[in-house]
Amino acid sequence: MQPRVMLVGAGPGSSDLLTLRAASAIQGAEALLYDALVGEEILGLAPRRCLRIRTGKRAGGASMGQDEINALMARLALRGLKVVRLKGGDPSVFGRSGEERAYLEARGVAVEIVPGITAASAAAAQFAFPLTHRAEARRLTFATARIQDGELVADGWPSDRETTLAIYMGRDSAGLIAERLIRDGRPPETPALAVENAGRIDARLMQATLASLPGVIAAAAPNGPVVLVIGAVAARACDQAAVDACPRSGRVR
Ligand code: SAH
Repeated sequence: MQPRVMLVGAGPGSSDLLTLRAASAIQGAEALLYDALVGEEILGLAPRRCLRIRTGKRAGGASMGQDEINALMARLALRGLKVVRLKGGDPSVFGRSGEERAYLEARGVAVEIVPGITAASAAAAQFAFPLTHRAEARRLTFATARIQDGELVADGWPSDRETTLAIYMGRDSAGLIAERLIRDGRPPETPALAVENAGRIDARLMQATLASLPGVIAAAAPNGPVVLVIGAVAARACDQAAVDACPRSGRVR
């Protein structure tokens, strides 16, 4: 059988947001390489004798380099093991799935991708706002901030009001991001929010405007992963208590 690696989306954290296909891949794994964002609950699905390798640490700790991860995946697969590379969210969204696929295929290792629920989708579901909305948000952009020498590199973020921007890896650069968007023409009062630990029980919603977002985030001092959502739809979010209290027919703010 051709050696194979499965790049599997683990979703935002809780195991009931895995796809059935992801769960069965994990249950059948002989070697599991997992990201820092993947939690214990999901790792617990792997068979006891499965080799577990943590490839990333959050903030500060040592992580394996991408080259090392690539080489390790190829080696394990070529040795005949069922290799599962488990990534937070969807492997195709800021998950390096393109690089890993290219590396593996060049070495004769087949790649299969199992999609997962991406952070923005998890945030929207949990805090009851849509990512698109008729006549209000006709486009959705997944973006990340590129910072060079303390400056945000201009990278063509749409400034039109009907685009919802979902920004990944932007927690620590929300100030630069907001400043740039306002300079590019988004009104300072544009609704904006940040969600920490989306899809998990310890999720936190920070609601603001584009102008106030950096201060709101600084005051909340999140240390988990944070996705930013900017655009009219952000005004529709309501926090967990309000979601629980509110029958879907009448919304409570
Ligand atoms: N493939 C992942 C994204 C990986 S990049 C996905 O599809 O979700 C890592 C970034 O994703 C984090 O910096 C954060 O912006 C976002 N992220 C991942 N998991 C998150 C979560 N549970 N809550 C909020 N943001 C999350």
